[in-house]
Parts: sequence; structure tokens; C-alpha cells
Amino acid sequence: MADVNTKNLSTGARAVMKKIHPCGSNLFLITRTGADVKLQCLGCNHIIMLDLNKALKSIKSIIL
Ligand SMILES: [Zn+2]
Repeated sequence: MADVNTKNLSTGARAVMKKIHPCGSNLFLITRTGADVKLQCLGCNHIIMLDLNKALKSIKSIIL
């Protein structure tokens, strides 16, 4: 588990979200980083896009 910061927000890492997705999973794969962060739910494969600030606020921890 790593702290949530822009350095650890890297493609291929997994993000543990503060909020649980409607499918019951709170684990997302980071598929794109930058000004917008793309996350894929590992429970249902749904893809969400968050701006960087929102992503940093929504993620609890990162598994590198
Ligand atoms: Zn899901």
C-alpha cells in the first residue's frame, strides 16, 4: 500500500477507492494518468474518468 500522490498514481497500479462501486468492488486499475485519470473497476470492468484533483481525493490508497 502506498500513499496517494501524483508520483504513485501510475498506469498499471491498483487504486483502493474510498467509495465502493455499485458492483461491490472498491478496487480499480489505473489505466491512464495525467490531467485526467482513467480508472477501470476490477469488479465489473466499468471505466471512469476523474480529473486529477478528484482522483487524488477519491482514492484511499494505491497498490503499486
Ligand atoms: Zn464496478
